[in-house]
Amino acid sequence: MSTILSLDKKHVWHPFTQMQTAPVPLAIVKAEGTVLYAEDGKEYLDCNSSWWVNIHGHGKKELKDALINQFDAIDHVIFAGVTHPKAVELSEKVIAILPNNFSKVFFSDDGSTAVEVALKMAFQYWFNQNQPKKRILALEGAYHGDTFGAMSISQRGYFNEPFEHLFFSVDYLSFPTKEREIELLNKAKNLFESNEFAAIILEPLVQGSAGMCMYSADFLQKITALAKSFGVLVIYDEVMTGWGRTGELFAMNHITETPDIVCLSKGLTGGVLPLGLTVATENIYNAFLAEEKTKALLHGHSFTGNPLACAVACASIDLTQKSDFKQNIHRISAKHTQFKLSLEGVKSLEIRQLGTIIAVEIQQSNADYFSSIRDEAYQYFLDQGLLIRPLGNIIFLNPPYCTTDEQLDKMYDGIKGFLTSKKLIFNI
Ligand SMILES: *Cc1c(COP(=O)(O)O)cnc(C)c1O
Repeated sequence: MSTILSLDKKHVWHPFTQMQTAPVPLAIVKAEGTVLYAEDGKEYLDCNSSWWVNIHGHGKKELKDALINQFDAIDHVIFAGVTHPKAVELSEKVIAILPNNFSKVFFSDDGSTAVEVALKMAFQYWFNQNQPKKRILALEGAYHGDTFGAMSISQRGYFNEPFEHLFFSVDYLSFPTKEREIELLNKAKNLFESNEFAAIILEPLVQGSAGMCMYSADFLQKITALAKSFGVLVIYDEVMTGWGRTGELFAMNHITETPDIVCLSKGLTGGVLPLGLTVATENIYNAFLAEEKTKALLHGHSFTGNPLACAVACASIDLTQKSDFKQNIHRISAKHTQFKLSLEGVKSLEIRQLGTIIAVEIQQSNADYFSSIRDEAYQYFLDQGLLIRPLGNIIFLNPPYCTTDEQLDKMYDGIKGFLTSKKLIFNI
C-alpha cells in the first residue's frame, strides 16, 4: 500500500462511507480538465464533476489567477463590521444574473449552511412581524444537506434515522409526477389555507440526491405562484441545479415565477473553494430592520465571506457569461439527448435528462441507495477509467463543461458496457 493510502487508512474517516467494508479509496494526485490522475498512474474521467461542483473542469487558469491575486491582497478577514472588495463584487454579480426581484446576499460556507440560513430567514421573517408561522412544506425525496435543519426538511429515511427524534416537523408533498400534479397543487392549496405556513422549499426541476428525479417546469411555476398567492415564502435550493446544470444558468430561468429566497453553492466557485450564498428579496431583508438588535439575523460563520472564495466565485461567474460556457452546455446537452435516444425502448431502464444531467435508472425490485448494483457499477466504471458514483440503481453523468465529445463518448460507452454486462442491453 502506498504512503498516502496507508496514512489514509490510519487516520482518515471518509464521508458517506462504511469504513469497515469500503474498498481502498483512489489516491488522486493531480487533476486537469476532466481528468483525474491517480498515484498509481491510472487516469479517470471525472464524470460527476467531483461531487457535482467542478463545473469548468480542474485547473482552470482564470480561477487560479483569481485565487493567487486575492491571496496577495487579503487572504481572510472577519465579515462582521468589515467588508471587502470581492464580497461586494460577488454580491453585485450574483444580483445581476438572478431575476430582478432579488436584492440582498448572505454569505455562508456550503450548500447545507446556505439552506440553514434560508430556513432561519423564513421563520424569523414571520417572527419579527409577530406572526409566527411555524409550518414548512417540502417535497418527498428532497435533499437539502446534512446539518440538522437541512436534514429535517429532507426525505426521512435510513440516512437520518439516528437523529430523527431531533428533527422539527415538516409537511411533505409527494414527488410531483405528471399524473399527480393537480392533486398535489390542491393539497398544497388546502395546507396554505391554514395560514400557518412560513415557507415552501424546493429543489427546482431536479431532485439531485433522490436520483436526478425530474419534474415539470409547469408544476414549478404553478406551485410557486400558488404559495406566493398565500404569502408563503418560496425557497429554491439551487445548490445543485444552479450554474448551467439544467441547460439554463439557473433552474428558475425555465419559468417566469421567481422565489423569495435562493440557495447557491456547489458550482458557485467553479468547485474550487467552499462557499454558500443565500440570496433574498428586499421585502425579506426589510423584515429584519428594527431598532432592536434581536431582530437582526444573528447568524454567521468564522469563514463568512472568505475573500479567496469570493474572488474565485467572481472569476467563475465571469466564465459563465462567456459564449463558450453556453456553447459547451448546449453541446453536452445535445450529446446527452443522442445517448438517451440510443437507449430508447430498452426494457427495465428509465432515462431522464435535463441539460447537462443525464440519469439511467436500472429498474429492479428492492432497489435502494445501498443496492449491490451500485457497488458493482462503481467498480466496473473504475476499471474503465471512469469515476461515476451512482445513486443506488441510478447511474448519472453531470460532467464538467470542458468535457470533450470524445470523453463524453467514453462515458456513454462505459455505461453501455455495464448495461451489456448485466444483460440489460444486447446490441452494442
Ligand atoms: C449538495 C446539496 C446540498 C448540500 O450542500 P453541501 O455543500 O454538501 O453542504 C444542499 N442542497 C442540494 C440540492 C444539494 O445538491
